[in-house]
Amino acid sequence: MKKWKCIVCGYIHDGETPPEFCPKCGAPAEKFAELPEEQRKLIDRARMTNQFHIELLGLLEQVQAVAELGIEDELDPPCVTLFKKALQAATEIQQAAKAEIAGHISKGKWG
Ligand SMILES: [Zn+2]
Repeated sequence: MKKWKCIVCGYIHDGETPPEFCPKCGAPAEKFAELPEEQRKLIDRARMTNQFHIELLGLLEQVQAVAELGIEDELDPPCVTLFKKALQAATEIQQAAKAEIAGHISKGKWG
């Protein structure tokens, strides 16, 4: 399917023709540029992976929240050590996922 990019805000529309108005910024249809085949394929291929990254970020936030509760609970030192490790690991993976997403955006693998 063809893809159209709003040159004003970057919104990407899937369809045979551009939308009458950009749903994000309201720009008219003539502000949409058709994306070349190569870029369309990149976006299609990356959409599912990007969704996985978003889901991963949400799960890692849950890990962080549980780890913080465990640290606060402070039953005994081994528990606190484990929860601190979990918090650190979740934070590191989260930051790595964000860096990966930023790379996808800069390479046009988003939209
Ligand atoms: Zn727009």
